[in-house]
Amino acid sequence: ARNKPAVTLIQPDFKFEDMGIGGLDAEFSGMFRRAFASRIFPPSLVEKMGIQHVKGILLYGPPGTGKTLMAREIGKMLNGREPKIVNGPEVLSKFVGQSEENIRKLFIDAENEYKDKGEDSSLHIIIFDELDAICKQRGSKNDGTGVGDSVVNQLLAKMDGVEQLNNILIIGMTNRKDMIDEALLRPGRMEVHMEIGLPDEHGRLQILKIHTAKIIENNLMDTDVDLVELAALTKNFTGAEINGLVKSATSFAFNRHVKVGTLAGTTGDLENMRVQRADFMGALEEVHAAFGSSEEELE
Ligand code: ATP
Repeated sequence: ARNKPAVTLIQPDFKFEDMGIGGLDAEFSGMFRRAFASRIFPPSLVEKMGIQHVKGILLYGPPGTGKTLMAREIGKMLNGREPKIVNGPEVLSKFVGQSEENIRKLFIDAENEYKDKGEDSSLHIIIFDELDAICKQRGSKNDGTGVGDSVVNQLLAKMDGVEQLNNILIIGMTNRKDMIDEALLRPGRMEVHMEIGLPDEHGRLQILKIHTAKIIENNLMDTDVDLVELAALTKNFTGAEINGLVKSATSFAFNRHVKVGTLAGTTGDLENMRVQRADFMGALEEVHAAFGSSEEELE
């Protein structure tokens, strides 16, 4: 008999925005919530329904859209501790059998706890960043290490073994879903696939708000800055690029307030220090210059 669930259910009114992740709508959080819903019910009921918990989720989309951020936050929210984050390429070893051993080791804690506590054990979340690096289509040309196939096999074996474990959830992340071995994406394995694309204008506004919240809260933003305008001007920006833009605008503002020759000592005019619209425009111009101003979307 289990009296306290090993995971917390994501609240119905849960918003990624509240976790500092913008551009993801309610449909997206709903999907996430559903992937975990079965876990808070008594195992007997889940069994009666004839279902198994979702064991794996694949987050895919372009780099810099917040996948790592999200996986970590979700991990913490679900069982209150930092999930295990594994960087795909780091698992690979040139020594025979070592990569498989590295995968095997990742599951040991969860396996031991399950042996000990059975259905009472807590949820172990393993996050694979750059999953494509280790889970390329088997039989395809690997990266020269020649270990690709057996690593995929080892991961598959572990995931299938999880059937008896029930206390493992794998979150895989990739920019290249097309490169992931299909066997890994089947039901019972990484069966929930969630795409995180580039944020739309509304999403970009959310992300801008997130990354300027502190500046605004501390009254360091000039009133001439219009986040709605900036959201419109940042078409095709990822969350990471928006974060970079804010940082860059801040550096323009700092720079304006540095008095010549005072870099090593006290800087001047700090009371009037504000990030202005012109700082953002300067930062945007730099981005345009770096990516080529010929792109018509940037105007
Ligand atoms: P990669 O595929 O390169 O690992 P990623 O999708 O995992 O990229 P993150 O590393 O999570 O992206 O994002 C980098 C940083 O950019 C984050 O720490 C955050 O500051 C910012 N960022 C990215 N996406 C978002 C978002 N949707 N909302 C708020 N901030 C974001």
